[in-house]
Amino acid sequence: MPYLVCVACGKRYPLDTALRCGNCDEPLEVHYDSLKPPARIKDDPCFVTRNTNVFPLPDLRPELSLGEGTTPLLRASNLQAETGLECVYLKNETVNPTWSFKDRGTSLGVQAAIWFGLKSIGTVSSGNMAASIAAFAARAGLEAYVFVQEGMPDGKIQPIAIYGPHLNRGIGDYGQLYFNALDLGEKHGIYFISSDNPFRVEGQKTVAYEILDQLDYEPLDFIFMPVSSGGNMAAVIKACEEMEALGLIKKAPMIIGVQAAGCSPIAKAVAEDKDQIEHFHNPNTMAHAISNPMPPSGNRILRKVKEGRANVITVTEEEILAAQAFLASQEGLFVQPAGAVPVAAVRRLAGESTLKPEHKIAAILTGSGLKDTSALAHHTLKAGAVPVTNLELALNK
Ligand SMILES: *Cc1c(COP(=O)(O)O)cnc(C)c1O
Ligand SMILES: [Zn+2]
Repeated sequence: MPYLVCVACGKRYPLDTALRCGNCDEPLEVHYDSLKPPARIKDDPCFVTRNTNVFPLPDLRPELSLGEGTTPLLRASNLQAETGLECVYLKNETVNPTWSFKDRGTSLGVQAAIWFGLKSIGTVSSGNMAASIAAFAARAGLEAYVFVQEGMPDGKIQPIAIYGPHLNRGIGDYGQLYFNALDLGEKHGIYFISSDNPFRVEGQKTVAYEILDQLDYEPLDFIFMPVSSGGNMAAVIKACEEMEALGLIKKAPMIIGVQAAGCSPIAKAVAEDKDQIEHFHNPNTMAHAISNPMPPSGNRILRKVKEGRANVITVTEEEILAAQAFLASQEGLFVQPAGAVPVAAVRRLAGESTLKPEHKIAAILTGSGLKDTSALAHHTLKAGAVPVTNLELALNK
């Protein structure tokens, strides 16, 4: 039977108890007595049944799936031409059921809640996780309790509210909201699936399994991804370690987490060689989906950096905007600012020759541009006008 282990002190817990360690308040992760590889995508396109071997629950209900995962891995020919890199892939997570990678973790989190016999799930989210939880709860017939940031505009509230959750803005400190929600959940039997819930992490690790499956387990040097709470990055690192242990790959790719300079608590701790994350003051970035100033899995990522499995770097707002424009206009992929962050890093590191032409790279595009349209105001985007009787004029515009 799989069990939970504290990532800091190693204390063991049964699967269905805590979400964080009672000793050190660090996240817990799932360990398996013996791990088997997932099925290949070509043999089983269903996210739930394909991954049964790498999930910790015995009875999964594939009918609760919304078709999450199994997303395309696209060769980025125009990004390669621009950067001189020979081999760059883009994992397009924007095509998930609620248009972000969050659906992978929610999918397994819902299975866990049902397995524990709970009727309600919840989350604290700056947007994408909220929509994902609300959608999967609706399908599974569970109540959803969703808390979002105090200042969230109506335009972002409505696409969450449409799924019918109990939706509230949390008035006060957003960092505190996360911990208070966990307490509420414990008291009232609401299963909170936030940032680094161990089942969410198990669901999210599938993105790395998929990338390597889609490459027929050919070696990859780097995976670039945005990082906020650190939950998804911890998941990708865990998957790579599992694939190494399973013998599917000889050597795990180096995982490069990328933060916006305007909210970069993990990158700051790495640069200063700290082993504890500190609260990042006055966060300010247009990449709202990655603006957690006190990441609950930050210390865990720092340990992985020390082990040589990962690194965390920053990009500027200008670099994020330029990468967003590049992806849309050169690769046909409209991602939200957070989703453009890894590509911003690839472009810069290639320009500085830190990345070599022969390095094989994948970047995870985490969420759709339509989920966060506020960044569009920063681009020069205009349409001309021509008389319908003289469309030739369009040829000059
Ligand atoms: C949630 C989110 C992230 C960050 O994931 P974490 O697990 O919190 O580090 C990145 N990009 C998008 C689009 C997101 O919604
Ligand atoms: Zn512990």
